[in-house]
Amino acid sequence: MLELDVDVCVVGAGFAGLSCARALERRGRRVCVVEARERVGGRVLTVDRGDGTWIDVGGQWVGPTQDRLYGLARELGVETFPTHTAGKNLLYVRGQRGRAYTGTIPLPVGPVGLFGIAWLLARANRLARTIPVDRPWDAPRARELDAETLADYLDRAPITKTARRLVEVAFENVFACDADEISLLFALAYARSAGSIERLIDVRGGAQQDRFVGGALGVATKLAGELRARPVHDCPVTAITQSDRGVVVRGARAVVRAKRAVVALPPRLAAEIAYEPAPSAARARLWDAFVMGRVIKCTAVYDRPFWRGRGLSGQAVSDDGLVNVTFDNSIPGSGLGMLTGFIEGRRAGEWAERPEVERRAAVLACFARYFGGEAREPLEYVDKVWAHERWSGGCYVAYMPPKRLTDVGPELRAPHGRVHWAGTETAMVWNGYIDGALESGERAAAECARD
Ligand SMILES: Cc1cc2nc3c(=O)[nH]c(=O)nc-3n(C[C@H](O)[C@H](O)[C@H](O)COP(=O)(O)OP(=O)(O)OC[C@H]3O[C@@H](n4cnc5c(N)ncnc54)[C@H](O)[C@@H]3O)c2cc1C
Repeated sequence: MLELDVDVCVVGAGFAGLSCARALERRGRRVCVVEARERVGGRVLTVDRGDGTWIDVGGQWVGPTQDRLYGLARELGVETFPTHTAGKNLLYVRGQRGRAYTGTIPLPVGPVGLFGIAWLLARANRLARTIPVDRPWDAPRARELDAETLADYLDRAPITKTARRLVEVAFENVFACDADEISLLFALAYARSAGSIERLIDVRGGAQQDRFVGGALGVATKLAGELRARPVHDCPVTAITQSDRGVVVRGARAVVRAKRAVVALPPRLAAEIAYEPAPSAARARLWDAFVMGRVIKCTAVYDRPFWRGRGLSGQAVSDDGLVNVTFDNSIPGSGLGMLTGFIEGRRAGEWAERPEVERRAAVLACFARYFGGEAREPLEYVDKVWAHERWSGGCYVAYMPPKRLTDVGPELRAPHGRVHWAGTETAMVWNGYIDGALESGERAAAECARD
């Protein structure tokens, strides 16, 4: 059993924990990061294919206003490159292929549908702007907005069924849950923390704009490599005890004594730790209020990006089927083609329990419907069921069903004595994203550095 004595013990070596440790070290504090997995990066994971190409099976994109993440990558020498967007996007409505289009808004829904989507997004953005990023529960109509689901809101909108469903698909792709599961207030606050709904869903000008050369895990690995103290791996933390003098953090193979602890975990995993003394009843309700999203990220590798030859971008949106959204995830210069799609929400819950061979067939059938028969014959197929990851418990992020945020929101960042909370779920800016994780780590570091 390792015995360590430091100023701050950080639990979790995802982007939040690592950014916290770095900020504390820069303030001259002695830090120890304790991590359950054998690796850093948490919900970001890159599979190295050994031929200079890679597949990001977790978080991968960075976009405008995610300045912390761009800045960090620059500092660490990790370059970015634009997501492939050249060519036409495809839209499938009720199984029928519409006319290919460019940009985010699918033109083939017709002028009425198109107007409906633009009107709805403008209206929702206006509502989102009334929500304070640091205190969504204090928004003028917080209780009213928190009492209903995103689906209720979409149902009431005077737009065509197709337009409604397409907006719903876009949101499902953002939250990895179904629209009838998430609080409207939570969804709008999330959009507000990103700037707007378009920032969440767009490729160019939005959260999907750029990728990292070598994969996003490289940023986390380099960040960890710059810390004075290397994370203690394979060490799930099970207990944190605190007194007037400090904290004792107990993990599978280390006991760390420190003045303070920062718990940088998804909320449900933070709740599994035994705290002595126990946190308030409100904090217990907060943890309980969070539900993890469900996503399976699926990538097929081909000998070439054959869809580009047909003038297609690799982006498809469909109002039905297993995979509703796809992207061209090829590695520039490799010659290979890669298509990535997502299974989300309830569908992800169902398909997580099926054998990979069945998922593969169903996902490739979707790709083939969008891009032609060649899509059925990849060189390789990789998918990642995030619900099966013991130390994530789902993904991309935790959301709240109705009537929770207004009840327990104020607990979100409130320290429990000498124990502080980080993780993307606590972020004020880009909540749910890597950039938000970085912000949360810096904020928790500033709280600890007040000693
Ligand atoms: C498929 C997918 C696609 C995504 N796409 C994007 C994207 O394109 N762009 C983007 O910005 N974001 C994306 N995200 C979200 C992004 O990955 C997360 O917001 C971010 O990585 C969260 O970082 P974090 O440090 O808050 O949490 P985590 O990454 O979850 O870090 C928590 C760490 O704590 C560890 N841990 C858990 N329990 C314990 C314990 N008891 N003791 C010790 N350690 C423990 C975990 O192993 C983990 O390393 C995506 C996520 C997924 C899964």
